[in-house]
Amino acid sequence: MSKTPAPNASALRVLIAGAGIGGLAAAACLLSRGIDCEVYEQAPELKEVGAGLWLSVNGARVLFALGLEPAIRASTIEADERAVRLWDSGRKWTLYKRGVSSGAHAPFIMLRAQLHRVLIDAVERLKPGVIQLNKRCTGFSQQDGKVRMEFADGTSAEGDVLVGADGLHSKIREKAFGDTPGRFTNALAWRGLVPMERLKPHHRALTATTWVGPTAHVTVYPARFAEQDLMTFSGQVERSDWRLESWNEKGSVPECVNDFAGWHPDVVEIIENTESLHKWGLFVRDPLPRWSLERVTLLGDACHSMVPYLGQGVNMAIEDAGVLARCVEKYAADPALALQKYQDARLERTTKVAARSAGMQHTFHNPALAEPESAAKYAEAQWNPASAKARYDWIYEYDATQVPV
Ligand SMILES: Cc1cc2nc3c(=O)[nH]c(=O)nc-3n(C[C@H](O)[C@H](O)[C@H](O)COP(=O)(O)OP(=O)(O)OC[C@H]3O[C@@H](n4cnc5c(N)ncnc54)[C@H](O)[C@@H]3O)c2cc1C
Repeated sequence: MSKTPAPNASALRVLIAGAGIGGLAAAACLLSRGIDCEVYEQAPELKEVGAGLWLSVNGARVLFALGLEPAIRASTIEADERAVRLWDSGRKWTLYKRGVSSGAHAPFIMLRAQLHRVLIDAVERLKPGVIQLNKRCTGFSQQDGKVRMEFADGTSAEGDVLVGADGLHSKIREKAFGDTPGRFTNALAWRGLVPMERLKPHHRALTATTWVGPTAHVTVYPARFAEQDLMTFSGQVERSDWRLESWNEKGSVPECVNDFAGWHPDVVEIIENTESLHKWGLFVRDPLPRWSLERVTLLGDACHSMVPYLGQGVNMAIEDAGVLARCVEKYAADPALALQKYQDARLERTTKVAARSAGMQHTFHNPALAEPESAAKYAEAQWNPASAKARYDWIYEYDATQVPV
């Protein structure tokens, strides 16, 4: 996995705030190029919420280049089919079928905890003890070509570059660029997992399905964890009374069923059998005009959080990681230039993906879907093969291991 670093690169020390998927992917990409790094995580232990994750080919490409394909394939399911269905009648449109239409759209379906584990194992193999827990970053300073990171426990760490991969409420972003409040989108996301054995047999097909309706949509897909077959449930609903931007808030089955009252019995059956439902207020932020400040930069949700309608938040963080490591290696003699090149390579793409994700709210939720006749016309226009190709291919075709830096 590891290769000989470029001159100067091996002399650098990169500090990373946050051991989420973005921070760990960055560490894996840097270490595999022979660039030293340390990861500082605020949490006392490494764990991820039990929710489904959609690793699309653009994200997978970066991890496969690190030699992680076998580990990823061992914990994922590849969908045979991707489909859109109408919220009330269940009428179905197939976007692709494996082996029949383009396989480029086939995502690797896994749980967040599974991808997190693959990345933890990868960085620990490359540098044992690289992740330091209980290290909440409170700020940083830059002086004499070095950057110093400060922690809540009163300690500090010094390096040549600091990467803020500290998520949505990033401290590094706040210290570097000030407060960037989110705007509530009048929608919330429900997330949960269902043991497949509780569902009727027809749910067991390896199909990733998005159910679309006038003011809500649902995405369900199969996953497998610790030998157990699961269905992942994600429901997005327009509702203005819940404005907490946090993964950790629990919701109840009756509340969720109420949000999908009148929906097809398959959707209701899935919700009624869902374990540990969480709800999350969906916010958008204006794109940052820049996210590198001399030897400090941002990565993942810290610099371009997005609503989950294209399933790209994790994938953008992984793409960032791949490009960042290439820039740090190539411009090792001038770390500030390396971070500028990284920002230049990523800003336009992530801004576009975030904007398109936000725009999908009105595609997935549309008044035309309220009546059967207009709903069928609408679905045929939105999800015919040509529309689906135009909507998704540019996302999946991006190659973070090759784009010019
Ligand atoms: C409902 C929902 C569904 C989603 N579904 C998908 C999907 O299917 N596919 C997809 O690609 N994306 C999805 N996303 C987006 C995805 O979850 C995020 O984009 C992704 O987790 C971002 O990774 P990250 O590493 O940047 O941040 P995070 O995963 O948030 O990690 C940040 C890490 O930094 C740590 N940290 C925070 N502050 C500090 C500090 N001060 N000091 C040290 N450590 C700190 C945190 O504890 C955490 O470990 C979804 C998001 C939501 C809300």
